Amino acid sequence: MAEKKELLKSLPKIDVLLEREEIKSIEGVPRSIILESLREGIDVYRNNILEERIKEYNTEDIFKYIMSLIQKKSSMHLKRVINATGTVLHTNLGRAVIAESAVNAVLNISRGYNNLEYDLDEGIRGSRYSHVEDIVCKITGAEAALVVNNNAAAVMLVLSTLCNGKEAIVSRGQLVEVGGSFRIPSVMEQSGAKLVEVGATNRTHVYDYENAINDNTGCILKVHQSNYKILGFTEELEVGDFVAIGKKTGIPIIEDIGSGIFIDISKYGLTYEPTVQESIRKGVDIVTFSGDKILGGPQAGIIAGKKEYIEKMKKNQLTRALRIDKMTLAALEATLRLYLDEEVALREIPCLNMLTKSKDILKKDALRLSKSIRSKVKDRAEVKICEDHSQVGGGAMPLESIDTYVVAISPRFKKPQEVEKELRQADIPIVTRLYKDTIIIDVRTLFKDDYKIISETLSNII
Ligand SMILES: *Cc1c(COP(=O)(O)O)cnc(C)c1O
Repeated sequence: MAEKKELLKSLPKIDVLLEREEIKSIEGVPRSIILESLREGIDVYRNNILEERIKEYNTEDIFKYIMSLIQKKSSMHLKRVINATGTVLHTNLGRAVIAESAVNAVLNISRGYNNLEYDLDEGIRGSRYSHVEDIVCKITGAEAALVVNNNAAAVMLVLSTLCNGKEAIVSRGQLVEVGGSFRIPSVMEQSGAKLVEVGATNRTHVYDYENAINDNTGCILKVHQSNYKILGFTEELEVGDFVAIGKKTGIPIIEDIGSGIFIDISKYGLTYEPTVQESIRKGVDIVTFSGDKILGGPQAGIIAGKKEYIEKMKKNQLTRALRIDKMTLAALEATLRLYLDEEVALREIPCLNMLTKSKDILKKDALRLSKSIRSKVKDRAEVKICEDHSQVGGGAMPLESIDTYVVAISPRFKKPQEVEKELRQADIPIVTRLYKDTIIIDVRTLFKDDYKIISETLSNII
């Protein structure tokens, strides 16, 4: 007991620590953070002593711990990370990386005032929705368009406008849950629409929809099975079948296409994903999709389709609550402009560029990275390159795995699990995959500057 008292008494004092040169020379960190870290650091040790987790300590260790707290508390919580997983649209890692021109547009628009809601020609109040409507129409062929916060908001707004108090018919095979507990049935309920499920999980026919139609039907909703596939004995309607039902009955056909794609990527060796243009051309009344999935822009929900419906949505009070902000609009307009030239889009939009990288280039990149890592970690790890598979992610092409090259690292003196964790917790965190005790780095999702950071960080850890 006496020992415990002694230990507690000899814990360093805050005012003494404040006088240390290392603390005095800290620049640009608020004093409140320094004081909080000192208190917290000492508290942790006090509790460890009280609860007899430690029987002795070294003052320098306490000080080191406090310095690490200061470092942690004074850096941004939301930070850039290196995605070495090969999953191109990683929802946990911020989904699409936006193009350079989109980054510049955000900087330019947010550094000063702008014409967000001002009509420069007339000198009167304008609409924030006007900035991207024309270009969405130009790319998709739609009559009108509206952008909101994200695709979940888009679906909600569409249903709230066209289907409030009315029935929305959906196939049982399309009651999707997208990550983060976004469930189509729940969103429909929130919007005020009454969900009418038809068909079976694996098969839904034209007559299932037709039999469900009555005077209170507000719309028919087709949902893209973004993140799963039902295989085997299956039947779902084609877009054309929906449009035919719509024409016959006058009921609006709404398609939640999920990942908004404008380019036929089957030309580049990937599985065909239905494009927004195709749905519009075939006559779907309203199509909704995300801005930050394969489209490669900022988080946004885009609604494109018939003018009579879009006009109603613009007047819905909910639109105000779901509205998109100026930074997002800037990034979205800049991204959409890239699509005016397909070649430019494929080159400049990071996710499209990553998804269409050739195996030759990936192999060269993997060789370059493995050499650079080997030169840093020397004999502390075995480093080799192997063929592997990348994922698209972001609820797109769930079954697609694309051939890639990875660098596989087996540390000789440290547990790979430990290395994986330390990479994740580095100043610039590096998120990797573990596979059978090797750390896997997929070069598909790396940027030019990441290579040096990866080899240096690994060299410090391994
Ligand atoms: C991803 C997805 C959503 C949700 O889109 P967010 O932009 O994340 O809100 C909705 N529906 C489908 C079919 C999706 O794939």
